[in-house]
Amino acid sequence: MSGIGKGVSISSIGLILKSKGFRVTALKIDPYINIDAGTMNPTEHGEVFVLDDGYETDQDMGNYERFLDQSLPEINYMTTGRVYQEVIRRERNLEYKGKNVEVVPDIPLEVIRRIELAAKQARAEVTLVEIGGTIGEYQNIIFLEAARMMKQKSPDDVAVVMVSYVPIPGSIGEMKTKPTQYAARTLNSAGLQADVILARASLPIDAKRKEKIATFCNTRPDHVISAPDVESIYDIPINFEKDGLGNILTDILGLPKRKTNFKDWIAFVRKSKNGNREVRIAVVGKYFDSGSFVLSDVYISVLEALKSAAYGLNLKLKIAYLNSKDFESGKLKLAVLKRYGGVLIPGGFGATGVEGKIKVVEFVRKNKIPYFGLCYGMQMAVIEYARNVVGLKGANTTEINKKTTYPVIDVMPDQKEKIENNKLGGTMRLGAYPAILKRGTLAHEAYKTNKISERHRHRYEVNPEYVEKLQEAGMIFSGMSPDGRLCEIAELPRSVHPFFLGTQFHPEFKARPLAPHPLFTAFMRAIMKQSK
Ligand code: GLN
Repeated sequence: MSGIGKGVSISSIGLILKSKGFRVTALKIDPYINIDAGTMNPTEHGEVFVLDDGYETDQDMGNYERFLDQSLPEINYMTTGRVYQEVIRRERNLEYKGKNVEVVPDIPLEVIRRIELAAKQARAEVTLVEIGGTIGEYQNIIFLEAARMMKQKSPDDVAVVMVSYVPIPGSIGEMKTKPTQYAARTLNSAGLQADVILARASLPIDAKRKEKIATFCNTRPDHVISAPDVESIYDIPINFEKDGLGNILTDILGLPKRKTNFKDWIAFVRKSKNGNREVRIAVVGKYFDSGSFVLSDVYISVLEALKSAAYGLNLKLKIAYLNSKDFESGKLKLAVLKRYGGVLIPGGFGATGVEGKIKVVEFVRKNKIPYFGLCYGMQMAVIEYARNVVGLKGANTTEINKKTTYPVIDVMPDQKEKIENNKLGGTMRLGAYPAILKRGTLAHEAYKTNKISERHRHRYEVNPEYVEKLQEAGMIFSGMSPDGRLCEIAELPRSVHPFFLGTQFHPEFKARPLAPHPLFTAFMRAIMKQSK
């Protein structure tokens, strides 16, 4: 079922098997028509996670990368649209040699080709494939058919794991297994039998219900794994191992039995719970509203990057999500920012909430509150500096005001053409690009190297025509593209501000629990130093 933690389950299984010394890789299948996740509204879809090669994917890919501590390539992500696009391309090229091209088997065959290619590229011994959505819906049927065909062809090499929700209705107070039984039958009707069932529930599942699920879902009781709600997602692999999930899977797949060597992960989880000093950070964004619910999934990589950096320094992290629109309407007063050790403005698009963000930047700059801006957050910092320090009144990004007198943030010429022709999907500056760092800057001090590579996702850049003016007024461009044209990092000297830094790229995509990102760590350090 969608939304109950399939992504984290796959990530956890991956971590367990990797900790047993197997080479693993993980794929995500999203059943929608969109070619990639880049064209979807974050409030509907959550974060768009960008891979090194620039592919715009689902946030689950971020979970895989973080748990596996491994970067994944484009082939590891597919949507219905992407699969059809490839089959249709081949048909247009006469590659089917006059044959009828059919939904079945040609679509599942393309799915299988992609899975096998991903496995080959990663030289994986175990390839994990997450089929998105909920069993029984129309959308994912071709992917289940692909799984069935793979299992039919190599029955001993494919294990089917079903993640199922086991509710405890408040009015009854008892754990009900019926929905899981129906889900198993629906899976059966697609020709698949669950080998293992992960029973997602608010509480651990008891022996009686394991027995019941096993009987009616046609599996073994010890293959029904308890997956209760946990304090933190990092506990999940450890919990799964309590039920011996790793060995169950290696048994099913005929792989050698090996010990799970988890030490680093366990140490990280312990640190994540035992922080001694508290660090309070305000994330000022805008993609929070979904009806009457507040979403923070949109910024999941930012949150994870903050967590890993805080835990790495033995800190306890407290995050508040503040809506930049509330600073515009006056619902929130800028003075609330003083309650936080640091302020972070993440990526964003479009005009809503922008003036609120600029006000926030001005406030934290003047009040010397550590500031970290990611992509849009960096652009906001440049606009604010241009307006209030350089004196370019009304300076803006052309994303918001095409006619601004001072377009300090502007599109690159090649991007202009794409916008004019409505070529908008997958055409931003995407994926990993190198940058050269200036010595003696916050950035250089944090990374401790001259050359870095970070992932991008943006159409606009600091306008080269204004770089000199901004520099003369004190802003430092501490990271530049190797050809010196594009500003990748902007910061203020420590003599005027304890930590004021923005990146045109998204460092959060490369932060990992076991390898916190140096800029996030530097941000935390600056906050702690300030509040000593
Ligand atoms: N909207 C900005 C741009 O396209 C920033 C994008 C972002 O924050 N990812 O350049």
